[in-house]
Order: sequence, then C-alpha cells, then structure tokens
Amino acid sequence: MAGLYLHVPFCARKCAYCDFASRPLADFPSLGTTVARFFQALEKELAALPPDFAPDTLYIGGGTPTALDAAQLGALLALVRRRVYCNGVREWTVEANPGTLDAAKAAALRRAGVNRVSLGVQSLDNAALARLGRLHTAAEARAGFDLLRAAGFDNISLDLMYALPGETTAQVLADLRGLLAWQPEHLSTYALALEPGTPLAAQHARGEFAEVPDEEQAEQYFAIRRELLAAGYEHYELSNFAQPGRVCRHNLNYWRGGDYHACGPAAHAHSGGQRTANVEKLEDYCRRSERGESPCAFEETLAPEAKARETLIIGLRLLKGVDLAAFQRQTGLDALALGGAALEQLVAQGLLAVDHERLRLTARALFISDRVFAELV
Ligand code: SF4
Repeated sequence: MAGLYLHVPFCARKCAYCDFASRPLADFPSLGTTVARFFQALEKELAALPPDFAPDTLYIGGGTPTALDAAQLGALLALVRRRVYCNGVREWTVEANPGTLDAAKAAALRRAGVNRVSLGVQSLDNAALARLGRLHTAAEARAGFDLLRAAGFDNISLDLMYALPGETTAQVLADLRGLLAWQPEHLSTYALALEPGTPLAAQHARGEFAEVPDEEQAEQYFAIRRELLAAGYEHYELSNFAQPGRVCRHNLNYWRGGDYHACGPAAHAHSGGQRTANVEKLEDYCRRSERGESPCAFEETLAPEAKARETLIIGLRLLKGVDLAAFQRQTGLDALALGGAALEQLVAQGLLAVDHERLRLTARALFISDRVFAELV
C-alpha cells in the first residue's frame, strides 16, 4: 500500500479552535493569483514524485478543499489526474465542509473519480457551532450531506466533536443520534482540544468557559463508542468508526506504518524510512517552487529501532492492535522485546493485552492511550 496526501491550505474562514495549516480566503486580496501560484507549485511537486509511484489511496485535505470555487476545484482535480497515475487508486477522499459545497462542486468531485468525502459537521447544536466559529448551521450540514448523496457518493465520513464547552453526555448522544439518522458510512470523533494561540483558548484563559473535566470526557467517549457499536459500526481506530468494509484505507496504511507521499504546504510524508515535512507557509511554498527549490523544510531518517517504536505506537491506535509476526517481518524486531519492562508493566496493569498473536490496547486504555504510548517511547 502507498498513499498520497495533498494539502489545500485555504478555508472559507478560520474556526475558533483551529491551529491547522490553513488560512481564510479573506487573507488573500488577489485570491485568483494566489490559487494559480499554488496550483503551479503543487503541479511541480507532483511531477517530481518518483516515476514509478502509483498510489493506492489519494487524500486531499486541508484546510477545506471545497472552499475553492467550482472552477478552481475542477482545475485542482484535473491537475491531480494529469500528474498522478490514478487508475490504480482504490480510495480517493476529499475533505469538505458544509457551507462550502454546492451541486457543481459535488458533481466535479464525482466526475474526477473521488469516491469518498469526509464532511466536517462537528455538531448539530447551532449554538455550539457558532461558538466553535463554524461556517454552518446543523441544517446546512444536512444540506451538504444530501448534496453529496445526490451526486452519487456512497462513502461519506462525518466528523463529530465532543467535550464542547458546557456539553453533557446526553447532548453528545443527541448529536450522535442525529448524525446516525443520516446513515453515514464512517464517523470520526474528536474531543475539543484547546490549542495555544486560538481564539477559543484565549476565551478559556479569560475564564469565559470551563473545559469539560477529564472524567466526563471519558464518559462521553465511551458513550459514543457504545452507541456506535450498538448501531453496527466497527470501532477500528481510537477515534474512528466504520460500517463493515468502510474503514478509511488511506489512514489505515498510515496506522500500519506504510509509506505515503505528501504534497502542498505543511504536508508531512513518510517513505522508505524517511520522514519529510514541507514548509508551512503558502507564500514560502510557492516562492521556493518558483525559484526551483525543494519545498521540503525537514528531513529525518529514523534509526531502525526508533522507526520500529513509532510503528508500534501508531499501530496500537488500531483496536485490533499490532500483529506481532507482521511487525517482526516489517521492522526486523520483536515488539514485546522492544517494549521491554514498560510493556510488561502495562500488560500487568491491564492497559495492554496480548492475545491471538496480537498486542492491543484494552478497552480501559482507549481513552488514556497517550499515557500508554508515553511509556513505550
Ligand atoms: S474548516 Fe477545518 S481546517 Fe478550516 S479552520 Fe475550520 S477546523 Fe480549521
């Protein structure tokens, strides 16, 4: 498996909690020129991929790719098809946000061969959406979902945030049940994180709201898990649930320690044991490309043991855990020996378990996985 990630650094506007590498369209007075420069740089970077590279999965994220207008989005999809061998692509995901989708964009995605859309709904509570600085209401989110279905998408993932300011478990479940009524193929759920430098973190620092306490966050996480398991979804990764056969293949490759290339500003790649990251700022990315320079700002080749450790920790994000024999084949190392005394202790504490030749987190450890991973670093 090999994947390709493309980063589109534009959003219609910036959400109050977001520290991702994206900027609102209003930041670019000559947007048409900026987008054209970005596309030229992206096309150059795609053209420089290894000549034999043929991805199994494609993922265009951001940012909000659908913040581009229909003509720009069509041009982006055309340039991807021009520069990437798409015939072998089994899964092509594009991220979209309600309020930035229309029938023309949904049709353009479908025509180009996109077969999966990840829609950022986040909540069905209009007051919560407004507080998060989201562009859309719950009704507009539903309208976006319906547009995608009408365009022929039969593989749609929805994002749901929990632990929102003042939110109770009953409210989280009401949101979740609302989304389940839409019958999405996949759901990703994330607790709100207060990222330094964001407007929401500043509001919190001013005492305008309190964070949902950890115990309640855990309660919400497990309530979501129970509800989705009961509805027939597989809990396959810490934050991800899928109907049978609808796991995200692109991310699965990442969690299995597979290779992936990545293009665009702030894009991170991992291939052949080497990790790379591009410059973050769109201006720097375009300027470097125009000067004939590489957009890569960081490069690291991990030593085999460090790489194996990383593969182990990322693999433990999967609920099925790490296949010990496959791990040995992939890394040349024994996972249990690599984890050593720390791993033995985590097993004794009931946070890790070894069964059926796999090492996995126990249900108890799912919400405190960061603590477990910290022990294994
Ligand atoms: S739409 Fe997504 S990437 Fe854009 S600002 Fe909001 S959270 Fe960030």
